Amino acid sequence: MNDGDRLVAGIELGGTKAIALIARGREIVARERFPTGSPAQTLGAIGDRIEAWRAEHGEPEALGIASFGPVGLDRARVDYGHITSTPKPGWRQVDVVGYFGARFGWPVGFDTDVAGAALAEYRWGAAQGCAVAIYLTIGTGIGGGVIVDGRPVHGLVHPELGHVRVRRASGDDFPGVCPFHGDCLEGLASGPAIAARAGMNGADVGDDHVLWEQVTGELAEAMAALMLTLSPQRILIGGGVFQHRQALLAKVHARTAALLNGYVTGVGARELAEIIMAPGLGEMAGPLGAVALALDA
Ligand code: ADP
Ligand code: ZN
Repeated sequence: MNDGDRLVAGIELGGTKAIALIARGREIVARERFPTGSPAQTLGAIGDRIEAWRAEHGEPEALGIASFGPVGLDRARVDYGHITSTPKPGWRQVDVVGYFGARFGWPVGFDTDVAGAALAEYRWGAAQGCAVAIYLTIGTGIGGGVIVDGRPVHGLVHPELGHVRVRRASGDDFPGVCPFHGDCLEGLASGPAIAARAGMNGADVGDDHVLWEQVTGELAEAMAALMLTLSPQRILIGGGVFQHRQALLAKVHARTAALLNGYVTGVGARELAEIIMAPGLGEMAGPLGAVALALDA
C-alpha cells in the first residue's frame, strides 16, 4: 500500500474534544484540538482550520472522519454520515459528512472513532496481519470497532460492543449508569461507572479497590464472548481507564482463560496475553484512525 505522500485531512470527533489534522501518508503534518461544543460552532471551527491548512499545505485528496456514535453508515439511507441517536445534547441527527462534503467537496471516509482506531492499528499498529481484529475503548463510554480482512464491519448499523450485557459477580447489585440499559458493559465498567461505584474520581481509585475485581470479571465476560463470536487474533484495549492501569490486563487474561476453560484450542492465559493488549499506536490510534479512513475513502 503506497500511502507515502498522499495529502489527506482528518477529524477525530469525540464527545468532549475533537482533533483536526492534516497528514502526508501516515505522517501527521499539523493537528489542533477543539473542545466539542455545539455542532455549528465545533464543525465551523474545524472547517476554518482545515481551510487555513489547505492554503498552507495544498489540496488534500480526501477527508477522514472518525466520530463518536452511533452514526449512520448506510449510503442508501438519509441518515448516512449523521450522528444518530446520541444522548449528547444538540448532536442528535447532525449531518457531519454533509457539512464537510458541502464545504470542501473531497471524498469523505466516515466511520466510528473505534472503527477508525481499529483500522489504523491494522494498517500500522498492533493488529497488522490479523484477519479479525477489535479495538475497544474504555473511557467515558465503551465502544468497539471490528476489522475483518482490512475493513470495518458494517451491517445493519455497526457493532455496539459496549452495550452487551455480561454476567455479574453474585452479590453485585450496582445498577449501572447506561441511560439506555443500566447495567450493560458500559453501564458497569466505563469511567463514569467506575467513579459512581467508588464514589470518587476514577483516577483516584486505588489499584486494590474491590471494584476492580468486579470490573475485570465483567470485562473478561465480554472478552470471552468476543473470542467465541468473532475469533479475533487481537483485541486492543484503549481509552482512559486502562491507560494507566496496565496491570489489570493480566487479571483480564486469567479470568478470560478461566471462562473459556480450554475450549478454544490453544488459548490459555499466556496466549490471551498475546491477543488482548494495549494499542500499538497508543494515544495516536484515534487521530491515525481519521487518517486511515481518509486514505481508504
Ligand atoms: P473519552 O472517552 O472521553 O475520549 P478517555 O478515554 O480519556 O476520554 O476516558 C475518560 C474517562 O476515563 C473518564 O471517565 C475518567 O474518569 C476515566 N479515567 C481516566 N483515568 C482513569 C484512571 N486512572 N482510572 C480510572 N478511570 C480513569
Ligand atoms: Zn448500554
